Amino acid sequence: MEYKTILYDVADGIAKVMLNRPSQRNAQNEALILELDDALARAAADEQVRVIVLGGIGASFSSGHDMRLYKREDGSLYRAPNVEGRWDYERKTFYDKCLAIWDLPKPVIAQVQGHCLSAGLMLAGMCDIIVAADDAQFGDPVVRMGAASVELLLHPWLFGVRRAKEMLFTGDPIGAQEALALGAVNRVVPRERLEEETLALAQRVAKMPPFAVRMTKYSLNRTMDFMGFRNALNAHFDVHQVAHATSEIQALLDRARQEKEFKQFLADRDAPFREAKG
Ligand code: ZN
Repeated sequence: MEYKTILYDVADGIAKVMLNRPSQRNAQNEALILELDDALARAAADEQVRVIVLGGIGASFSSGHDMRLYKREDGSLYRAPNVEGRWDYERKTFYDKCLAIWDLPKPVIAQVQGHCLSAGLMLAGMCDIIVAADDAQFGDPVVRMGAASVELLLHPWLFGVRRAKEMLFTGDPIGAQEALALGAVNRVVPRERLEEETLALAQRVAKMPPFAVRMTKYSLNRTMDFMGFRNALNAHFDVHQVAHATSEIQALLDRARQEKEFKQFLADRDAPFREAKG
């Protein structure tokens, strides 16, 4: 597969996969999701690769799903024509592809700067280790537009349930230092040192015996499963689908359909919350 929306490079046992739509803040369109999935499978299959680094080119790691992903010619926001079509589409394209990262047999380190929002948070949250720049912002504002969070409810596992509730009930993001204090990221480094600090950590992990690392990851992930991780994610996916089909979300999206510029819709969505933000 030839990549148009990501960069892929292998050197010294480390595969670097970079989201490469900087002018869209690495918003994830379908091409990016499929290319990322292909690149990660490639890294998993490459015997030279010990560790995978997942990052984003430009100011942000990823601002979420590209909302144009959903836009149809009639101006409605969803590609799938009905509940069953959306369930299938989001299951295959979002949910399964994210969990494939979690299940990769090699360690994945997220290198996160700027916006890490909604589906961007899903991607970073699927990685084993997160190195954050001091300007990183972790958030999920989609409840503001009537959705029940994103497809993967990683938030309580990342931030603890109370902080996750506040984040989701207000739509306000969490900064890098607070994410560190909550145990949601491994370390925070100055933005200009992000790449070298992430690489240095990746190099250390790459020196470890690979099968032992693989089995340790497998066991840690199964520990999470015994705590209910995968079952909880699975249950939330269906709730997320219900929220896609409510009258409440339709009323909010009807406003979007009337907007000529989707950017304006997002600005309007966030405006009432901007002043309240402390
Ligand atoms: Zn969805």
